[in-house]
Amino acid sequence: MNRTSIVSILSLILFPLVFLFGFDKSANPNIRLQLSDELIIHGLSDGVFLVTHSFPWPCNSLVVQSENGDIYMVDTPCTPEATGLIIGWVKECLGPENIVAIVTGFHIDNLGGVSYLIENGIPVHGSDLTVELLKTDAKRSHDAMLPWLKGSPLYDYYSNLILLPPNHVFPLQDGLLLKSGEETIEVWYPGASHSPDNTTVYFHSKKLLFGGCAVKSADSTKLGNTFDADIDNWPNAIDALIQRYPEATLVIPGHGKQGDRSLLFHTRSLFHDDSGSLP
Ligand SMILES: [Zn+2]
Repeated sequence: MNRTSIVSILSLILFPLVFLFGFDKSANPNIRLQLSDELIIHGLSDGVFLVTHSFPWPCNSLVVQSENGDIYMVDTPCTPEATGLIIGWVKECLGPENIVAIVTGFHIDNLGGVSYLIENGIPVHGSDLTVELLKTDAKRSHDAMLPWLKGSPLYDYYSNLILLPPNHVFPLQDGLLLKSGEETIEVWYPGASHSPDNTTVYFHSKKLLFGGCAVKSADSTKLGNTFDADIDNWPNAIDALIQRYPEATLVIPGHGKQGDRSLLFHTRSLFHDDSGSLP
């Protein structure tokens, strides 16, 4: 049985269960839904859903529904299969007219699921540097990560996973502004940080900042995977985020629990001692 069939069968089993338990985002924005052993959707506020894919370490992506019903997916789960489960849930439970994806870097936890999105006609925005780094650096970066998976059943999966680039490309330095009704979605480059190409995404009316892998969770005591990091400039990138988004009330890190602007100050404080280990 191929992977698409598995996703289809899982969808058939899962979605009736979702309806059975009465999913209603307006009545219960704090819903917590487990789509598979490693895939969880967690409602944070009205129309804002944190997706955590533990494959094997927990990686965050985000689903946001704007007032007019459009869906924005920021980063993907690590695999096309998990991304398919999320999109299936979005279509069944949120019923959007439009789905748009944005990827914030060239690592697997930013765009591992892009192939599913492209195959299903969902536009994927990403920067020109992300496209470039996928060509020049993805294999080296990917191979550097593989030893962490030695002995894990995921080793073979990761060894064979093909990463596709975004199909709507913007110049990194220009960033990107998207409009959806009253909502403005700003994709911005604060400078090199966790990777040379990491961008952030800000939803103005929701005061919601997806910091991605540039931003660490409150319980992180290390910088994590620094294979591609610009350690010298990373603190400057965080300072730039602190300056640019003084009104942000909800901040999403690439890994771990969401928080507020204190996550930016916490990330800034980690630059005194780092030995570069996961997560
Ligand atoms: Zn990451």
